[in-house]
Amino acid sequence: KGWWSDVEMGPPDAILGLTEAFNRSKDDRKVNVGVGAYRDDNGEPYVFSCIREAEKRLLAKALNKEYIPIVGTVEFCKLCVELALGEGSPPIKNGNYCAAQALSGTGALRIGAEVIQRLSNGNKEIFFPTPTWGNHARVFTHAGLKINKYRHYDEKTNSFDYDGSLQDIEKIPESSVVLFHACAHNPTGVDPPQKQWESLSKLVKQKNLLSFFDMAYQGFATGDFNNDAFAPRQFVKDGNQIMLAQSFAKNLGLYGERVGCFSIVTSSKEEAESLLSQIKIIIRGMYSSPPIHGQRLVAEVLKDPELRCIWECELGAISSRIIKIRKDLRQKLEALGSKKDWKHITDQIGMFCFTGLTEEQAVRLTKEFEIYLTKNGRISMAGVTSKNVDYIAKCMHEVTK
Ligand code: PMP
Repeated sequence: KGWWSDVEMGPPDAILGLTEAFNRSKDDRKVNVGVGAYRDDNGEPYVFSCIREAEKRLLAKALNKEYIPIVGTVEFCKLCVELALGEGSPPIKNGNYCAAQALSGTGALRIGAEVIQRLSNGNKEIFFPTPTWGNHARVFTHAGLKINKYRHYDEKTNSFDYDGSLQDIEKIPESSVVLFHACAHNPTGVDPPQKQWESLSKLVKQKNLLSFFDMAYQGFATGDFNNDAFAPRQFVKDGNQIMLAQSFAKNLGLYGERVGCFSIVTSSKEEAESLLSQIKIIIRGMYSSPPIHGQRLVAEVLKDPELRCIWECELGAISSRIIKIRKDLRQKLEALGSKKDWKHITDQIGMFCFTGLTEEQAVRLTKEFEIYLTKNGRISMAGVTSKNVDYIAKCMHEVTK
């Protein structure tokens, strides 16, 4: 027998497979609302102006390509945590945190999974909202954790299932891990309102659960970093020692650069130092040290007031475009005489809209109308533009009649 002769063909990735099918299609009507990457109103990929400028400045510095530390530079990590928790946040002032550069959000989650598995005294079981990002289960089971779930989305009302989530979290065994999407929940676009986050935070503290925030969209939901970081900041304020996975894929458009940060708020500076020493060993055994270019770009933007200002304007424009196109899509569906309630399209936030379309309807949209979306009925609002919104509304109406 050959070494690999028993290896079976794995299923294609649900989202990347969709893009392949889209690329293969020769139909002029085709629209890709499957992929979670921002597109401008012409349907083109977008590179942030602040990143173009940072790239120019970096090039002018002619820096070398030496290795950086295993956990990335202290400067980069601090800038990331400050962005997330706010500059004056007590864990930062007191040194009660540790942080490591990560391979974007996924890499940060993966380090976190390994840290829980190898270093935590708590339960090696993590609870996800239902539904959640398709990759969460894989990332955490690969590290050997058990996975479980709590209610998040209420299909009847197309909104956050507050009572359901409280009931489920209430039943989670003490010292387990709970994952939260910090903002712009993927795939539903439904976040708890601030008052409900406050109660969730109290419950998590009272039950002694370890919260792990997946923050892939800070600034992308409302255009305001502080607003979008409300939940993790509230949890920290209430004394929760959170774990955090940050990604710069969406909010700085650095998808393929793979820049992110993993951090933990600890009970003391000493604990943070011990943890960091162990995180170094974990990372060393996985990929030795992180890449340099993307983190240089992020640091350049975060520490320069001028670039930061351009960044904020750009994020404002992006989130406004998404909010506007949500309104347009809803209005067009209503104008076509659709009897369905489409209020959730404008209530939801961030890049994704969980349309409420059934799998059958989603498949019809792709097969008959060349609109490529995931079977759970999620569409990326970033793929909707002023040119294709009429067509998308017409087809959504057609399949939901
Ligand atoms: N978490 C969530 C909820 C996401 O939507 C994404 C991006 N699709 C990620 C994490 C991580 O993405 P990346 O590794 O590209 O930063």
